[in-house]
Amino acid sequence: MIDFLKDIKSMTLEELIGDFASMGLKKYKAEQTFKWISKNVKSFDDMSDLSKDLRSILKQKYKIISAKILKRLESKDGTKKFIFELEDGAIIESVLMKYKFGYSVCASTQVGCKMRCKFCANSNLTFSRNLYASEILSQVQEISSNEGVTVSNITLMGVGEPFDNYENVIKFIKIATSQKGMSIGMRRISISTCGICDKIIRFADEKISATLSVSLHSVDDSIRSSIMPINKAFGVEELKKACRYYNKVSNKRISFEYIMLNGINDSKKDAKNLSLFLKDLISHVNLIPANNVKYNGLSATSTERIYVFANWLMSFGVNVTIRRTLGPDIDASCGQLRAKFLSGENYECSFKDR
Ligand code: SAH
Repeated sequence: MIDFLKDIKSMTLEELIGDFASMGLKKYKAEQTFKWISKNVKSFDDMSDLSKDLRSILKQKYKIISAKILKRLESKDGTKKFIFELEDGAIIESVLMKYKFGYSVCASTQVGCKMRCKFCANSNLTFSRNLYASEILSQVQEISSNEGVTVSNITLMGVGEPFDNYENVIKFIKIATSQKGMSIGMRRISISTCGICDKIIRFADEKISATLSVSLHSVDDSIRSSIMPINKAFGVEELKKACRYYNKVSNKRISFEYIMLNGINDSKKDAKNLSLFLKDLISHVNLIPANNVKYNGLSATSTERIYVFANWLMSFGVNVTIRRTLGPDIDASCGQLRAKFLSGENYECSFKDR
């Protein structure tokens, strides 16, 4: 059967108002419907303040996409990880973290990833498709409903490259931040890219004040290309130009992610070169303890050495923090659980399953 129903959760309020107007329906009805969608209703019949007639019109034209939680794992530190099944059977994952400021969801933007970063557990999993805005939203909504918490922050740092799914991701940001819907603060959304430069420029021009993170990991072209194939398409110099453009147009700083890899990017010279790269950028560096990178001949820098590296950076005038690792016992970082799930590997039984 051909599915001709429109994915209503992937529509911005403006698009919905436009659609409603073309059916002779008033703007406030579009607003009511949009509000219901933002509350994670599963069926038009649950929209109790809409007339029966309107509900039946909506059912003929739209469908409500959702995501089903297949598995929930809880870490000792309270971080929770969710495996979702989408309507076509695709498997994705997201993480819920609790911070002092509130709850944050780390959401996926693609099923798999094309970027093949050497240190990432997803690099061996094939890319199958982009997520729709509705599927990115559903991760946040389902987690929020399932856990009974209000999510205040969203990071697009799960599986996938957000700028390789640009339109859907921008749509997601517009829908999630709508005052008439979920009303997430724009500055409370972070988007992380491996460095797709034309999209960094386009993003700057969108004038969307979400926070931008760039996964840098090295400022040496040969090292960066060896761990991040995207660097062969957009080298370090081009990346710097795009970042400078972003700083200038948005007037916002960039958070540079830097995964610490033993003997690869953690020498004093690497720290010096990083500081030179950052010289005329408005930036902040987040050092990430490498997670499970034993395959591919890589190993993690020791904690002591990460502190030494951070001190070198500080002495070179760099604004730096070290990322706290949440949920390592449930592989809550970087796609590892999904990778395990798909390979059929067993979980340890101490995890709290649903
Ligand atoms: N594609 C985007 C977002 C997904 S990865 C990006 O590249 O930014 C999210 C972050 O996790 C990135 O900074 C990525 O480099 C980092 N990461 C991936 N694998 C990791 C690992 N094994 N240990 C620590 N960080 C990792």
